[in-house]
Amino acid sequence: MGLGLGFDTRSGELRPWDHKVKTKTQSPKTVFNEMKALRIEKTRLAVHEIAKPSRGDEALVRVLLSGICNTDLEISRGYAGFRGTLGHEFVGVVEETSSGALVGQKVVGEINAGCGKCKLCRAGDSRHCASRTVLGIVNRDGAHAEFLRLPVENLIPLPKRIPEEHAVFTEPLAAACGILERVSIANSDRIAVIGDGKLGLLCAQVLALTGAPVLLIGKHSAKLRIVERRGIETTTAKQAAKRNREFDIVVEASGAAPGFKMALDLLSPKGRLVLKSTFHDTTEIDASRVVVDEISIVGSRCGRFAPALDLLKKGAIDVESLISEEYPLADGVHAMKRAATKGILKVLLRPRAQ
Ligand SMILES: [Zn+2]
Ligand SMILES: [Zn+2]
Repeated sequence: MGLGLGFDTRSGELRPWDHKVKTKTQSPKTVFNEMKALRIEKTRLAVHEIAKPSRGDEALVRVLLSGICNTDLEISRGYAGFRGTLGHEFVGVVEETSSGALVGQKVVGEINAGCGKCKLCRAGDSRHCASRTVLGIVNRDGAHAEFLRLPVENLIPLPKRIPEEHAVFTEPLAAACGILERVSIANSDRIAVIGDGKLGLLCAQVLALTGAPVLLIGKHSAKLRIVERRGIETTTAKQAAKRNREFDIVVEASGAAPGFKMALDLLSPKGRLVLKSTFHDTTEIDASRVVVDEISIVGSRCGRFAPALDLLKKGAIDVESLISEEYPLADGVHAMKRAATKGILKVLLRPRAQ
């Protein structure tokens, strides 16, 4: 798999890739300046040989490990209309910066790169800058490649104590921690998290650290066991239906429209519904329920990296159990298929065997 095969994102089948993979004889210098990258072009996903990016006024980072996120799978199905190299979860080593700062340093990187000039950027939060680019998501080639570019200020040196396989979870863990930026939680709040995918498992663990009782609702006993080992209560959707109106905060992280309805049912009056999933179908809202019960609906997307790194440093979150498989980048198309397979959690890509 890999070079020469394409994953047809419409039919979901692997078939010969019609893009002309370079076959002509190349001088060693040209080869040196090329790299592998897992890209979506038109509607097809394939590993291409493309030019290694030049740093410009940013940093050039050699990717050590990248993680496949559900967002990557959604993008490969056409979400956000992105074309280019996928991937936004990574650990790498800084190869070049214009000032020489951070060179040789192992880093993780915040994925939103703002314009630096607007009000939001000047206030230090580029996550909502209207002209931002986002690594592997909006107008910026991503991390499933041998090299990537990011502004130097997006990079955060990796504390020595955090192994690469844990550090690659910094971005999704930051997204889970982002909930705490959006809602304040008292340890008397009763919390339910819907969805036992990667995000749900991280959200449940982060929220449990507040001391509040957390219930994770999911389908797969092996996945639920990961958080049960951390003392978190779990149940199935069927069982959870008996606990309607019992929760002060419900986090929807299932990514499926029925999760939204379930979330509303579980909330007590004046409850807070945190949406972590982007729904692609139109989601119907029982608006009168929201009004009568005075439910607050809060969206939550990306979080800051510092709190996530802190948790990883302390070993406070079990991310190791979330790793299902690892593949060389050359097998990126296969890895994406595996990541889309039921029961599979995080799939990692390693550009170079070590
Ligand atoms: Zn992600
Ligand atoms: Zn801006």
